[in-house]
Amino acid sequence: MLTRFAPAPTGWLHLGHVLNAEYVWGSGARVLLRIEDHDRDRSRPEYEAGIYQDLEWLGYRPDIIAGRQSDRDDVYREAIEILRAQGLVYACDCTRSEIGSGGAPAAARAATHAGDDEATPKPLRGGVGPYELRYSGRCRNRGLPLVDGYGWRVRTDPGVERFIDERLGPQEQDPLRQCGDFLVRDRRGNWTYQFAVTVDDWRQEIDLVVRGVDLLPSTGRQIRLARLLGRERPPAFLHHPLIMKSPHQKLSKSDRDTGVRDLRARGWTREQVRAAVQSGAQR
Ligand code: GLU
Repeated sequence: MLTRFAPAPTGWLHLGHVLNAEYVWGSGARVLLRIEDHDRDRSRPEYEAGIYQDLEWLGYRPDIIAGRQSDRDDVYREAIEILRAQGLVYACDCTRSEIGSGGAPAAARAATHAGDDEATPKPLRGGVGPYELRYSGRCRNRGLPLVDGYGWRVRTDPGVERFIDERLGPQEQDPLRQCGDFLVRDRRGNWTYQFAVTVDDWRQEIDLVVRGVDLLPSTGRQIRLARLLGRERPPAFLHHPLIMKSPHQKLSKSDRDTGVRDLRARGWTREQVRAAVQSGAQR
């Protein structure tokens, strides 16, 4: 089995990543390390260097170092051609406020896709929130050209994706109802999280995805997208609990009190850091 550890270099590693690493390396599968810098605006070289240093210090050794998503543009272009050939990709010029003006409550308008065109000032990890914007399909049949400057969306048919989460059991998700036609490339030319992660998990032959339960709502659309790309069998999925700051608040990368390098500077040992996450995980 091959799994992956796939942090975004948009902040320092924190205890949430350490918990994910415990599950990833604890799965018994071989581990591929992928730097998820699809959001070029928020990624920083110093955070990327920090990921390697902190993993080394913590004692997690990847079996394969797959490098950065930003070096794989040709792989994503090849993949988008597979979807274009099926007539599934269209351009969209809707702004965030147009998408959000469909009568959704304010909270629904505020939480959306990280690193995508619809990003909020402080996007949620992996791009999904408790409330998601559902795209109406306004540009589906407008025939706008697929060029930079427009978002690119994938036509999403109705239908339920079923999978068995290795911890949570059977799941059902209907991507069209959850989010509508989702973005694969944003208007600034960034491949989106959903697209890049699906292409990478397929091309890098990942057969086990181990990640936090906050990404559970993305799984159905990633299974759907992988099938449209031609992946024969989806990977297995395990979504683990998160470490919470409080019962309703996740840790974030800006929580300096939980950054691996801050704890190390304060004299914590790697054993203490790794033990801390075991006791802090909640459902
Ligand atoms: N890069 C994502 C993050 O750091 C994780 C992606 C995934 O596991 O699918 O939140």
